[in-house]
Amino acid sequence: MKPASRHIVACRRCPGLICWALTTANGRPQPVDATPNALGNLAVSRGSDDLLYVRSLTKAHPEPRPGEWRAMPHHATCANPPAKRSTGVRSAPWKR
Ligand SMILES: [Zn+2]
Repeated sequence: MKPASRHIVACRRCPGLICWALTTANGRPQPVDATPNALGNLAVSRGSDDLLYVRSLTKAHPEPRPGEWRAMPHHATCANPPAKRSTGVRSAPWKR
């Protein structure tokens, strides 16, 4: 299984393609790479409501179930992840 093209959108921060999936843990949308990844630690599935759902694979249950595919969280592969608050770097002084 893999995401349908209607689920795939471009990342706003890099040229990568992602899918938004709701976490089964708390229902929050999480960006995952659109391309299934055998090294991913997430299992993504398409619900009967045609939304994508994502759950973490654990050591106890490391294999996706039938109908799920393995994916990487986009945070791990994004070329421009959200900037961390820098400390110790001052912005340039204003010039008049
Ligand atoms: Zn990205």
